Amino acid sequence: MSESPSILVAGAGLAGLVAATELHEAGVSVRVWEARDRVGGRCWSPAVGPNDVRLDLGASWHWEAHERVRTLAERLGIERVRQHEPGVAVQEWARDDPVDHFEWPEAPPPSWRLVGGAQALHERLAAALPDAALRLRHRLRALQRAGGQVQATAQTPEGPQDASVDAVVLALPPRLAAHALQFDPALPDALASALRDTTTWMSPSAKAAVVYDRPFWREQGLAGRVRSAVGPVHDWHDAVTPDGHAALVGFMHPPGPDSPTPSDPGTRDAALVRQLVHCFGEAADSPIGIATADWRHDTATTPPTGPKPGPHTPPDPAPVLRRAQWEGRLHVAAAETAADHPGYLDGAIEAGRRAASALT
Ligand SMILES: Cc1cc2nc3c(=O)[nH]c(=O)nc-3n(C[C@H](O)[C@H](O)[C@H](O)COP(=O)(O)OP(=O)(O)OC[C@H]3O[C@@H](n4cnc5c(N)ncnc54)[C@H](O)[C@@H]3O)c2cc1C
Repeated sequence: MSESPSILVAGAGLAGLVAATELHEAGVSVRVWEARDRVGGRCWSPAVGPNDVRLDLGASWHWEAHERVRTLAERLGIERVRQHEPGVAVQEWARDDPVDHFEWPEAPPPSWRLVGGAQALHERLAAALPDAALRLRHRLRALQRAGGQVQATAQTPEGPQDASVDAVVLALPPRLAAHALQFDPALPDALASALRDTTTWMSPSAKAAVVYDRPFWREQGLAGRVRSAVGPVHDWHDAVTPDGHAALVGFMHPPGPDSPTPSDPGTRDAALVRQLVHCFGEAADSPIGIATADWRHDTATTPPTGPKPGPHTPPDPAPVLRRAQWEGRLHVAAAETAADHPGYLDGAIEAGRRAASALT
């Protein structure tokens, strides 16, 4: 390493921004290239409805064991809200049959959301980096080892952009890295196949958020929780904000590369409202905002070949993913590489910290 190493982090998700923050705090000059026009990666909390309620269309919850999320949120001054569970839940078996009700919670482990949405973590981390450090709409395409340096090339709206850096942290989903990046020299077979074979947690899913002017389900003693065998959402949750904005957020269809979700927004929104009216009655007929995200077709999460088919379980990362390559100049640091809670927000923080500490 030179005396003032310059490190490129590819990806402004949680792993990348944690790595960049720790490198910057250690006095290392760091640059972040992010493919999208926003930070957050699989955490996306757009403002929905006329009151701009920020709702999670990507990651939302953390649990007791996810200590890294709790302490990072605390450090960044982001409040947590306990997931609302009590009340009666709805079971929808078929579109034309009356719904059933059951007592909720059965015994769910306590979980928390972040006030302002999970993307608030990224926004606060990015805001504390030097202005020039973060480059949006920079999609890394190629890495070439050249002497003691790594040549990186990004695709940007202004054309290709090159940088020569001491080391690179790849903080994008491993499977996407295997499909989208060119490596010269080629990566060792064991790493290349581990990248290809690692599932990207939750990439086969889609989410919907619906905002109302009041939480009518709570007024009826309902938990806001729905389990559905028919969809379009198979699992609705209460997402009322601490300042009282009423919202429901849910996962569309059981996760799977091909499970049907209407792509036309009008048809999709109508199907969501129809389902909510079936589950909660006419009070659900007039939402004031609807938003959806389909991660299966998101090219900054999922390669064009689609999500890796397989069981809906968090990844079990091969240890080779945590081993630096190119004599310490190339590190992989997505949530999927973590030893602890791989695939989760907590794993993303662990992975980002591991890469940063190897480079300082
Ligand atoms: C629908 C859904 C629900 C989830 N729910 C939860 C939950 O409740 N709790 C939980 O703990 N986890 C949840 N997760 C998982 C959680 O989102 C991830 O663990 C975490 O966000 C991963 O962070 P990351 O930084 O590793 O990757 P990402 O967030 O995927 O960030 C990677 C970044 O790299 C960028 N990028 C991609 N390609 C390039 C390129 N070529 N060049 C430059 N940049 C690039 C992307 O745009 C992105 O910003 C959920 C995920 C989804 C999709």
